[in-house]
Amino acid sequence: MTQASLATTFAEFGLHTPLLARLAELQYIQPTPVQAHTIPSILSGQDLLAGANTGSGKTAAFALPILQQLMDRNRTSSPKGNLVSALVLVPTRELAKQVADSFKSYAVHLNGDIKVVAAFGGVSVNTQMLALRGGADVVVATPGRLLDLISSNAVKLSAVSTLVLDEADRMLSLGFTEELAQLIALLPKKKQTLLFSATFPEEVRQLTQTLLNNPLEVQLQSAEASTLVQRVMTVNREKKTALLAHLLQQHQWRQVLIFVSAKNGCNHLAQKLAKRGISAEVFHGDKAQGARSRVLESFKAGEIQVLIATDIAARGLDIEKLPVVINFDLPRSPADYMHRIGRSGRAGEVGLALTLLSHDEYHHFSVIEKKNKIRLEREQVNGFEADDIMPDNVLEQPKPVAKPEGMGKKKRKKLPPVNVDIWAKKPE
Ligand code: AMP
Repeated sequence: MTQASLATTFAEFGLHTPLLARLAELQYIQPTPVQAHTIPSILSGQDLLAGANTGSGKTAAFALPILQQLMDRNRTSSPKGNLVSALVLVPTRELAKQVADSFKSYAVHLNGDIKVVAAFGGVSVNTQMLALRGGADVVVATPGRLLDLISSNAVKLSAVSTLVLDEADRMLSLGFTEELAQLIALLPKKKQTLLFSATFPEEVRQLTQTLLNNPLEVQLQSAEASTLVQRVMTVNREKKTALLAHLLQQHQWRQVLIFVSAKNGCNHLAQKLAKRGISAEVFHGDKAQGARSRVLESFKAGEIQVLIATDIAARGLDIEKLPVVINFDLPRSPADYMHRIGRSGRAGEVGLALTLLSHDEYHHFSVIEKKNKIRLEREQVNGFEADDIMPDNVLEQPKPVAKPEGMGKKKRKKLPPVNVDIWAKKPE
């Protein structure tokens, strides 16, 4: 497929309305590169060999066409007994759960027509056996547990029409070669096979040769694989924390870096989120170096999900790029805006940069957009819509009174606090 013919909307794939409606709810605005490259050929039934990383949007790339194909199939021919239509093999239980949850999420408007079952080790087999009774449209499984379920007759692979091998390189490096061979032998010869792998060592190559039939080969270059989506949501200032908490709870992002304008703001926000049951760590210049390093290490290790930081603290952050960056407060300079959002969208990943904009920031954000030659649509979130005019009980953001934290010469006088207590004064 040529670059010119790549779809820029999900509607162009001809996906059914319930799927499109769900994508709109999930705020998937445009297909990621891996989705644009693969969805049309998967829909047409072709085998696929795709080089794509976690975070590239590959789950939706195979889940959406599979759901579409299942919807197209005459429902009376849906699997019965203990048969399965689509089988997704993954290397780990976490991934099995995650991928099954994605299928369920995309299928939310299909009136329960599509049955998705996750099967992975480390938990009781009985629940999974029960879930598989009457067959399943989609089974997402780790190889070992699936073999156990087959040997106890809980599931049969003879009616599988689509096989997905997700993270094939990890699966083989984790030593699942033998299990995979056993499973493949139980599958029908005639089926569509989709293989996703981040790397292609010899073992994976051998597998692709025996398993794939005239596949479309898609290898995304890292430069084109990264997609950064910038979004702006307008909200009354007194509802900002509530909106932030709502977004964090709704999306359960793997990791989020939240920018605020002042050190005190970090702590205030962390406390307010804690009251709403969201734990977040803070990262700013007032924290002792040891404490900063510890927070950073935990964030890097993925033990901290939500980190609230000031610009200067984030400047020295040596972390891999993140799935989501949120501007809770605007940065002072247009350059800082680019610096902040550039922390999201690792090569091969979908990055999201979200700005929560209250009335007192409208003007400043227009300046940031103009300087950066961007213009973003203002969006509203249901239940958190911004009033048309600034509510009079909202304080104007104080004008910057000093250079931001850490921007001056090394030995400068302690600066008066900036933007302090704006949130603390107002009831939520
Ligand atoms: P994956 O690579 O499948 O693990 O997806 C990585 C993340 O990107 C997940 O949080 C998905 O919900 C999200 N995602 C997938 N496709 C899109 C899209 N087209 N637009 C925005 N986010 C997406």
